[in-house]
Amino acid sequence: MLKGRQGLLSFAEPQSFMLNRTNLLSWLRRFPRESSQFLGINSLGVLTLNERRHQVITAITIAFPVCLCFTFFNYNEGFFRLAFAEGVGVIFLLLAAYLQAQGDAAVSWAEWTVLLWGSLVTCALAIYGGIEGSGVLWIFSFPFLAFFLKGQSVGWLVSIGWIVICSLARWLSPEITDAWVYTATFTMHFIGAMLWATFIAAAFNLVRVRFMMQLLDAREKAELANNAKSKFLAATSHDLRQPLMAIDLFLSALAQTPLSSEQQRFVSNLDSSVKSMSTMLNTLLTMARLDSGAIPVNIAPSPASSLFRLIESEFASSFVARKMRFKLYFPSREIMLETDHEMLRALLRNLLGNTLKYCTKGGVLVGIRQRQGAAVIQVWDTGIGIEPEHIENVFEEYYQIGNNERDGEKGVGLGLAIVMRQARLIGATVNCRSRPGSGSVFEIMLPLATLPTN
Ligand code: ADP
Repeated sequence: MLKGRQGLLSFAEPQSFMLNRTNLLSWLRRFPRESSQFLGINSLGVLTLNERRHQVITAITIAFPVCLCFTFFNYNEGFFRLAFAEGVGVIFLLLAAYLQAQGDAAVSWAEWTVLLWGSLVTCALAIYGGIEGSGVLWIFSFPFLAFFLKGQSVGWLVSIGWIVICSLARWLSPEITDAWVYTATFTMHFIGAMLWATFIAAAFNLVRVRFMMQLLDAREKAELANNAKSKFLAATSHDLRQPLMAIDLFLSALAQTPLSSEQQRFVSNLDSSVKSMSTMLNTLLTMARLDSGAIPVNIAPSPASSLFRLIESEFASSFVARKMRFKLYFPSREIMLETDHEMLRALLRNLLGNTLKYCTKGGVLVGIRQRQGAAVIQVWDTGIGIEPEHIENVFEEYYQIGNNERDGEKGVGLGLAIVMRQARLIGATVNCRSRPGSGSVFEIMLPLATLPTN
C-alpha cells in the first residue's frame, strides 16, 4: 500500500448519498481533509519525471499549432500587437519548453515555461482586447493548463493570481491607459466565471490524481502478489528437488542390481522421466529466483574473449556430436564488457541450448562486435526459424511453438523468458530476427566497460 495515501484512496470508495444524520456527520468529519486535498494535493509527487515530460510535450503539441494559427489569423485581421505576442510566445517559449523537456534536470523549468507562455497569451488578450470574443475561451483554459502541469497548489496560486491581476487592472485602469478596457459589469462577470473555471479545473485535476494513485496502488499490490508467488514457486521447486535427488540416487542403485530386461526398461523410462522433471524444476526455480530478486548481480569489467572460450569448451562437443559446425568470432582487439560474467554466460547457455533443440543441420555462429558505443553479441543458427507472427511472443512465459500437447521433453517455454529477465538484470536488450526454414539470429546489446585512460 502506498504510504500516506490510504486516506485518499478510501475517499474513492462507493458511498451512500442519502441525506441523513450519519452521512452528514461523516461528511463534516471528512470535510477538512478533503478540502485540504482539493486545495493542495501534491500531484507532482505521484508522477514520475517521464510522465511529467509527457504532460509537457502533450501540452506543447496541442498549444503549438493552435497558437501558430491564431498568430496568422490575428496578423491577417490587423491585430498586430496580439499576433506579435502570440508569435513571440510560440517561438521563444513553446520551443524553449520543448527543448527543456528533453533533459531530466529541466522538466520542471519546461512546465514553468509553458505556464509563462499561457500567461503571456492571456495578458495579451486581456490588454489588447479579445476577452469579449473567442479569446475568453483561451483565458478559461489557462487554469486547466496550470492544474494539469503543476498540480493543485500551483494551479490555485496561478489561477487566483491571475484573477487578482485582472481585478487590480480594473481598479488601476483610470490611472493607466490601455491597462483594462472593459466595463465594471463585464469585469465582475468575468472574474466570477474565472473563479468557476478554476474550481472545475481543480476538481478535474483532483479526480485525475486520485485515479492515478489508485492505479499506482493497484500496481504495487499486483507486484507484491507477483513477488509472493515467485517466492512460493522458488521455495516449492527447491523443496521438490530434494526428494527428486533421492529418487535419482535410488534409481542408480536399483540399476546396479540384477534386473530382468523388462525391469531394466522400466528403470530406464523412470530415469528419463526423473531427468526431465528435474530440468523442469530447475527452470522454474531459476525463473522464480530471477523474479524475486534472489539472484545477486555483480556487474564488473569482463573480457569477451574469456567468455567465448568458456562457451566453446562447454558447447563444441555437443555440436561435433551432431555433425554441425560451431564457430565463434571475436576480434583480436579485446572487447571489455561491463556485465555480470556468470549471468551473461547463463543467458548464452540458454540461447545455445535452444539452437541445439531447433537447429539440426548446418551450424551455429556466435560473434561479438562493437556498435554505437555498445557491445553486440549475435547467436546465428541455420535451424527451423520462427514465423513472423510468433517472434514477439517467444519471449513470453510458457509460450511454445508446436508443443500444444505440452510435452515436457520439448521444454516448458520458459527459456527465452529467463533470457529476457537475465538481460534486464545486466542492463542488456535482446531481440530476434528469423526467416522460417533458414534460421534465426538472437542479438544481445550490452554495455561496454569504460577503462581508465593512462
Ligand atoms: P522452449 O525452448 O522450452 O520451448 P523457449 O522460451 O526457449 O522455450 O522458446 C520459446 C519458443 O521459441 C520455442 O518453443 C521455439 O518454438 C522458439 N525458439 C526459441 N529459440 C529458437 C531457435 N533458435 N530457432 C527456432 N525456434 C526457436
